[in-house]
Amino acid sequence: MDIGRTQVYRCPSCRTDTSHTVRTRQGNIYGVICNRCQTASLVRKDDLLFYQDLWEDEVRAILMSLENPDDK
Ligand SMILES: [Zn+2]
Repeated sequence: MDIGRTQVYRCPSCRTDTSHTVRTRQGNIYGVICNRCQTASLVRKDDLLFYQDLWEDEVRAILMSLENPDDK
């Protein structure tokens, strides 16, 4: 994971899953900044990747429901 990359994470201030920019890294801890309210959070790498997986699953589900509008 690189500095400057955008990651989805739950912002403690917005209380929602929103995109964050990775600003700094120290070992397994990343400093991310909410793109909505600019709140900085420290996140373990595992947690960040966990969120990314969750998010991608959600996006995939949304895309599939768009491709198959008849599926309920
Ligand atoms: Zn925020």
